[in-house]
Amino acid sequence: ESISVSNLSQLMGVKASDLIRKLMQAGKMATINQLIDADTAAFLASEFGYTVEKKGFEVEEYIPEVEEDEAKLVTRPPVVTVMGHVDHGKTSLLDAIRQADVAAGEAGGITQHIGAYSVQTSKGPITFLDTPGHEAFTAMRQRGAQVTDLVVLVVAADDGVMPQTIESIKQAKAAKVTILVAINKIDKPGATPERVMQQLNEYELVPEQWGGTTIMLPVSARTKQGIPELLEYIALQAEVLELKANPEKLAKGVVIEAKLEKGRGPVATVLVQEGTLRTGDALVTGAEYGRVRAMMNERGEQVKAVSPGYPVEVLGLSGVPTAGDEFDVVEDEKAAKEVAEHRAEKARQKELGSVKKATLEDLFAKAKTGGQKELNVVVKADVQGSAEAVSTALQRLATKKVGVKVLTSGVGVITESDVLTAAAGKAIIVGFNTKPETKVDQIASQQGVTIKLFSIIYEAVDAVREDMVGLLEPII
Ligand code: GDP
Repeated sequence: ESISVSNLSQLMGVKASDLIRKLMQAGKMATINQLIDADTAAFLASEFGYTVEKKGFEVEEYIPEVEEDEAKLVTRPPVVTVMGHVDHGKTSLLDAIRQADVAAGEAGGITQHIGAYSVQTSKGPITFLDTPGHEAFTAMRQRGAQVTDLVVLVVAADDGVMPQTIESIKQAKAAKVTILVAINKIDKPGATPERVMQQLNEYELVPEQWGGTTIMLPVSARTKQGIPELLEYIALQAEVLELKANPEKLAKGVVIEAKLEKGRGPVATVLVQEGTLRTGDALVTGAEYGRVRAMMNERGEQVKAVSPGYPVEVLGLSGVPTAGDEFDVVEDEKAAKEVAEHRAEKARQKELGSVKKATLEDLFAKAKTGGQKELNVVVKADVQGSAEAVSTALQRLATKKVGVKVLTSGVGVITESDVLTAAAGKAIIVGFNTKPETKVDQIASQQGVTIKLFSIIYEAVDAVREDMVGLLEPII
């Protein structure tokens, strides 16, 4: 980075000749158009009573792409997602697998839902993402995160291939992920596994028994029949994929789930994909950062170091990160903070831009709907599930005369950027199990934005309904 003497003189409001004289005194010859480096500029500035701040920087400075050292690669556990139609037994299967864990059995077997868990099998460890269904998978993929190595497609033997089964197949294929089929509920009297196999043929999933390449196993999440075999086949498939990672570098991975917990602050479950994550590491993910204060596995045990392919709950972040976002360990907390702030600023500018556009679109929308009034809402909640539930409940309030429009819906504390969005969209902010960041209350009152906080959905719904009635009154 460099700047010309004339540019610097303009910026500082000091004559270029004075700058040149100063440089000469310091033993440097310079002309007015000469480029000088940042250090020299800083020296000059300080001589004239200014301080120089380093502004522009590249994130790569802190998160460099390092060439992979083949010699350091070691085998890592496969990461598996369970997909399939609703009620076909995804959750039950994940529970059954969890209970089949030898290690968990010894430790008392009480596992907590942290969004992912690791199971020790006779053929090695396997990591399961604990959020069933393709929504989670899609959310990850939309953010560009390739997390899953294998998909276990659950199809109920009594129900067969259904719409979400097909959707899951499409998504797994689009992501080029190997599919294993678990034909579930074979304990049921009406179970016809053969029929399921036949149906899957139509989607180019041909079982090995019939000369194809797809492993299809009859299982029962209820009686646990076939579960050990399923785990064995997953481990075998993983061997074929030769999954490897280097544990000897700064850790990198993906946020699987994140929430705000009372007494614990922001809690994020991350999957380590490369390197080893250690307590004390400085970490940045999206616009959040922090030092890893503590890490817990799915059995609630404190861990100090986590290898590639394993999930862990992390405490110590500045805020709630976004599921699907990558995380990187950087040199120190200062670097993490700098990268996070840089990203936050970028996001802020982007959002301000999009808000302007949104309001313009709103104008057109209003023109179209004629006299209909609309109540705009910005929703913020502690977890993704609540944010969605509140948004849906509020949208259902819409009537012919008053519409409800959720401008944005997100997770975490209410920030300045939420207030700006609300101000631009003439919206109220509905916070669910969350609160405004420090000073945000003040900004909200300056901007004339109302923030309403709730911890019970129907109370939020009632309050918004009242606001809608308020919009109606002037018409009568
Ligand atoms: P999900 O919606 O795919 O997560 O499905 P669930 O795991 O919630 O299961 C839906 C229903 O099917 C529940 O009532 C389960 O008890 C039942 N179920 C799941 N697996 C089995 C099984 O192997 N056998 C029988 N008989 N019922 C099962």
